[in-house]
Parts: sequence; structure tokens; C-alpha cells
Amino acid sequence: MSTLLSDGVIHVSDKCKACDHCTSICPTHAIKGRLGEKHHIEVRKCINCGQCLINCPFGAIDDVSMVDERIIKALKDPSKFVVVQEAPAVRVALGEEFGQAPGTNVKHKMYAALRRLGFDKVYDTEFTADLTITEEGTELICRVFNDLGVPGYEAFGPLPQFTSCCPAWVKYAEDKYPQVLPHISTAKSPQQMFGAVSKTYLAEKLGIDPASIYSVSVMPCTAKKYECDRPEFIASGFKDVDAVMTTRELAQMIKAAGIDFMSLEDEQADRFIGASTGAATIFGATGGVMEAALRTAYEVLSGETLDKVDFKAVRGFKPVREATVEIPVKALGGKVLPVNICIVTGTKYVDDVIEDVLAGRSQYHFIEVMNCPGGCVNGGGQPIRRDTY
Ligand code: SF4
Ligand code: SF4
Ligand code: SF4
Repeated sequence: MSTLLSDGVIHVSDKCKACDHCTSICPTHAIKGRLGEKHHIEVRKCINCGQCLINCPFGAIDDVSMVDERIIKALKDPSKFVVVQEAPAVRVALGEEFGQAPGTNVKHKMYAALRRLGFDKVYDTEFTADLTITEEGTELICRVFNDLGVPGYEAFGPLPQFTSCCPAWVKYAEDKYPQVLPHISTAKSPQQMFGAVSKTYLAEKLGIDPASIYSVSVMPCTAKKYECDRPEFIASGFKDVDAVMTTRELAQMIKAAGIDFMSLEDEQADRFIGASTGAATIFGATGGVMEAALRTAYEVLSGETLDKVDFKAVRGFKPVREATVEIPVKALGGKVLPVNICIVTGTKYVDDVIEDVLAGRSQYHFIEVMNCPGGCVNGGGQPIRRDTY
């Protein structure tokens, strides 16, 4: 069914006015065409981030939609039990499509709208973002122990560890720096973890045949469509995530269904399993994954609670930020381990960092890479603010 892997998610339409603006936006130089000539995207180089789409002044760039062919079809199919997850960055942007100020949190109306659209269960991605953080934090600890020569950790990969939750960054590394892949965390992104858990744990908990579960996600990201169709994401025997829609597409579905969004009574999300920690909410902003994973690593390694540690160093909006976090390691008799971290916002800034890693010059232990400026809150699937032109 899918052609996303070969044909890409993002395409230039005939509305292109050949202004050439997008070529300065694209982090991978995938957009081809001279000034005055209709532009096109070289699929092999494109990482599906959608930054060209949200920045084209003429609305000439589109992303492939899964709404009609997959999502609405599944919602109309009585044999399917359709579950939906939404990422934290969606709830603070969706309201813009309904006249609310940017940043307004409309999650309770969004849960209500998703139920009106026919989804059988409505969940937050927060729970599985916690799983990703736990996996990445634990993996970092194992890689650090391997690096220190602690017996029993030889199977773990080298330092530094890169984050793995941004599919645009992962494709960039695969395309341009395959040698760096052993450094990328083996943890699935929160979207894919949710998909896998929905076809296994959730199916069992709800007493539903996993073959009947159709797993949809609402994301701020166009690259997540590409990620969901990657063939390796079927470990349970079923596709982790069956379809993805962006924040923009959810708004379109709500409008097309005639739902008066702002008049909806607030509703709660369904409970997946207990409560999430809230750490996942910061996932959507640059530095958030790093901060959340470091918190896990700190607590496990030190055995101490977190109120003694300030992670402000990982926050901010500079494209490349670095800091050192000192962690007393209980298993090493309280020896203080300086963990050097780096946060890169924008794949176009990551080349020097990777070159240092490959040349053995890098002093970092943990590196977060997110493609979009400021993180997922400014992803390629978010509402487009044409008033900025
Ligand atoms: S920014 Fe839009 S209109 Fe301008 S060249 Fe790119 S696709 Fe065409
Ligand atoms: S989606 Fe991203 S990588 Fe692909 S052409 Fe647009 S800006 Fe470039
Ligand atoms: S930074 Fe977030 S929104 Fe942007 S490509 Fe990566 S995962 Fe998608």
C-alpha cells in the first residue's frame, strides 16, 4: 500500500511560484530548482521534516495524507477497534486552527473531538514517552558502564549515545553518516512504542484480538508518517502504528465533521496504565528528551532524588548547547561521574558534532538531536501561520 519509503512524504505542487525560499530552509539541500523554475524534491535526500512545507509563502508544498485512505476507512470498518494517541506538542497548537492564541492547551476539547470522530479509545503519547525515556536513560547507563570497563556490559554500544526519537534525524544519519548508527539509541520513539504496546499489552488488557486493533497517531510531525511505514516496526507481528495524521489534518477532520470545537465539553483521555510522570510533556521542546533521560539516569546511578539537581543547562534555544552534569555513582562507591551532554536543534548543525564522534575527538556521553527549530512544537505538521509573511 505504502509508497512513502520510495516516494517520500513531502511534494512540491503546481502552485510553486519558483521563489526559491524553500532551498534556504531545507537542512539537507534536497530541494532542486533555480529561481523562476518550478522546484522539486530529491526524495533520496529528503528527511521528510516538512520545514519547507510550513515555510513556503505560497502554500505550494504538501505532505501525503493518510486520512481518507487509512484513518476514515478504519473508522468506518466495524471490525476495527481504532485507538488514537496524541503527542504533547499537538494539544498546545491545535487551538490555533480554532482561533485560539498559540500555546493554548486545548487537550480536553481535543479528547472530546476525537471521540466524536469515532475513535474507540483516546490516549496520550505521554505514557510511552515515559517508556522511551526509561529505555534511553537505562541504555545510557549501560553504555557508560561498558565504557568504564564494568564487567557484564560488553554487549552495549559505544559512547556517545545519540537520541533516536526524531525520525528526520535518524534518516539523516542513515543517509549521510551510516558509520554513526551504532551510537544511536536502540529505543523506539514514543509513537512507535505506543503502537507496539497497543498491539500487545493493550490488546490483552482490553481482551481484543490485536489483529482488530487499528493504531492511529496525531503528531506535530510529517516525518512520523515515514517512521510509521518503516518495515522494521512490526516486532509484535503487527504494524506498530497503522496511520499518522498531523495537527493540521486533525483540525481539518474536526471541521469537515462539522464539530463546533470550542463549544465541546471538556473530556479526559482514557487511562492506559496508571499515570504518566509528566516528564514526557517536555519531550516536545528542544532539550526535553535529554533532560528527561538524564533525570532517569541520575536517579538510577546515584540512588538520590532529583531535587538536588538543576538541569537548566540543557534548556534554551541555541542550535548547539553543551553542559556537564555531575552524577555520583552509587555502584562505584559514590565516585562522581561527569556526564558531558550536547543538544543539537536542527540537523544542519549536527555535522561537526558527528565528525568529532567519528574521529574519536568527542568528549560527549549523550547527544540529543531534534530536526525542527525549538523541537517538535515547531514541527512540519503544526498549524501554518501565514500572517508571518
Ligand atoms: S518556497 Fe514554495 S513557491 Fe517558493 S520555490 Fe519553494 S515550493 Fe516554490
Ligand atoms: S521535508 Fe525537510 S528535508 Fe525534505 S525537502 Fe522539505 S525541508 Fe528538505
Ligand atoms: S523535531 Fe520533532 S517534529 Fe521535527 S522532525 Fe523531529 S520528531 Fe518530527
